[in-house]
Amino acid sequence: MANQKGGVGKTTTTVNIAAALAQSGLRVLVIDIDPQGNASTALGVDHHTEVPSVYDSVVDDLPLQEVIHPCPDITNLWCVPATIDLAGAEIELVTMVSRETRLKRALEAYFEQTDPDEAFDYILIDCPPSLGLLTVNAFVAAGEVFIPIQSEYYALEGLSQLLHNIELIKAHLNPGLQVSTILLTMYDARTRLSAQVADEVREHFPDQVLKACIPRSVRISEAPSHGQTVMTYEPSSSGALSYLEAAKELAGRAAGYR
Ligand code: ADP
Ligand code: MG
Repeated sequence: MANQKGGVGKTTTTVNIAAALAQSGLRVLVIDIDPQGNASTALGVDHHTEVPSVYDSVVDDLPLQEVIHPCPDITNLWCVPATIDLAGAEIELVTMVSRETRLKRALEAYFEQTDPDEAFDYILIDCPPSLGLLTVNAFVAAGEVFIPIQSEYYALEGLSQLLHNIELIKAHLNPGLQVSTILLTMYDARTRLSAQVADEVREHFPDQVLKACIPRSVRISEAPSHGQTVMTYEPSSSGALSYLEAAKELAGRAAGYR
C-alpha cells in the first residue's frame, strides 16, 4: 500500500482490506513499516518500544516469526508492528549492506522455514508517506503495488513521481513489480469534484481502479481510536460494506490469475 502523500487512506485501507480478507477465512499478515505505527494501533497490536517489531527484523536480522503478533479481535489476521525505533531506520539503513532488500530477505527466510499449510494468503505492507528506503524495501519485497487515492483536487499530483520510482525499482531491483490496484478513498458522492477525480483516475488507469470506492465516513475515522478496524467496530456501516466490496474485488482478481 503506497502513496507518498500522507492522509490519503493507506493505513485505513490496509487494515480494513486485511480485516475483510481475514473475516472471509483467508490468512492475512499486515506488515507495518510506517514509524507512526498507525496500522498496529488500528489492529489493536501493542507497539511500544519494547515490543519485537519490524525494526528488529529489518535492521537487526531478528527472524520474522519472532515479530509476528496475532491481532486480538480478528482470527486469521496477524501483524508485524512498527515501533517509533523505525523512525531511525531510514537513516541507519543508508550505510547497511543490501539496504534495499532487507525486508525481502526477511520474508524469504520466513517462507523457507514455515509449513506451507500455515502460509499467508495475503501480505499487506503499510508504507510510510515518503519514497525513502522503507518504502523501497516494500517495493522490493512486494509483487504488487496498491495505491489508495483520495478523491480530492490534488489527487493525481505526485502520482507521476510515485510511478517513476516504481519504474526505477522495476528496472533495477524487482522486475516483476506491478501497480495492480488503485482504490478511491474518502469519496463524497454529494460533490461533483469527487466524481470528476474518479473519472480522471479511471481514465488514466482503466484496469487498475477498483469498481468499489470508499465513502467519507465518520465510522471509518472513529474505529482506530477504539483499536479496531471499521469491519469489527461497525460492520454494517457504509464504510465497512465498501471495504468488503473492495476486498471481494481484490480476491476475485487474484482468483483470476490462478
Ligand atoms: P495515510 O495512511 O495515507 O496517512 P490514513 O489511513 O491514516 O492515511 O487516513 C488519514 C486520516 O483520514 C485518518 O484520520 C483516517 O481515520 C481518516 N480516514 C481515512 N479514510 C477515511 C474515510 N473513508 N472517511 C473518513 N475518514 C477517513
Ligand atoms: Mg498511514
